[in-house]
Amino acid sequence: AEAIAALGQHGDDAKLLAGGHSLLPLMKFRLATPGVLIDIGRITDLSYVRDNGDNIAIGALTRHRAVETDATVVAHAPLLAHATSQVGDPQVRHRGTIGGSLSHGDGASDLPAVVLALGGTLVAQGPSGRREIAATDFFEGFLETALEPDELLVEVRVPKAPKGWSFQKFNRRAQDWAIVGVALATVEGETRVGLVNMASVPLRATATEEALASGSGVQDAAELAARGTEPPADIHGSPEYRSHLAAVLVRRALQEAGERQ
Ligand code: FAD
Repeated sequence: AEAIAALGQHGDDAKLLAGGHSLLPLMKFRLATPGVLIDIGRITDLSYVRDNGDNIAIGALTRHRAVETDATVVAHAPLLAHATSQVGDPQVRHRGTIGGSLSHGDGASDLPAVVLALGGTLVAQGPSGRREIAATDFFEGFLETALEPDELLVEVRVPKAPKGWSFQKFNRRAQDWAIVGVALATVEGETRVGLVNMASVPLRATATEEALASGSGVQDAAELAARGTEPPADIHGSPEYRSHLAAVLVRRALQEAGERQ
């Protein structure tokens, strides 16, 4: 409540600080210059994993390392546990939080693609209470989310999906960001595919999903992975290279998920 009140008081001049592993790099580059930092990193009430029966609830301030090693997440949402274990290096995972990663809304981050693939729900809290936002409605633009300026992300819920999953992260060195990544989940018979670093905003491979739903085979569905995306160009690869990679990784993900049914 104090953090939300402080957000209301300081408006655009304020930024929430969780693990600081995305915000501080932005500040070092002077891409963010908040006048006020609201340090939420030690709100222990928002660090938890709860088994809700058909879904798992994770407090926004839960560190990546805690998510990666939590027995409930490992058993019931292995895609999330495994993908989290691939985020950065141990230092990043001991400081960064799941809520910070999702609120940052970076198309190059791993966890937004995972929450999209799982069909998760994000719970925001503002001055007038809590509201739920579907993951598909959460990521709106480049580093832009559906959170209002005076709202705090407090919880992430993902359905239990112990089978039919895969996470493919293609990078040059173990601790690097993904050049392209693919998060694939099967929930209640439906296969969803989240893409990492295939646009400025986290997104799903909807053409692949639709092809699978209408009975296409693995190869044909995977070929459609890059349709509707806008892959970035940088030192690691051109948009054409990334589009090719996305198709290869989606094919591998579908094959691995098939073996995990
Ligand atoms: P912060 O940096 O504290 O905050 C990020 C943004 O979210 C800020 O705008 C902040 O105001 C806002 N925010 C934070 N918490 C909340 C909340 N509860 N409600 C509303 N807004 C909030 N990520 C990957 O996915 N894959 C990688 O391979 C990867 N490699 C990395 C390597 C390095 C060297 C570093 C420094 C980071 C890397 N990251 C990677 C990013 C890492 O996962 C960050 O921890 C994460 O993106 C942000 O979490 P944070 O808790 O540090 O957030």
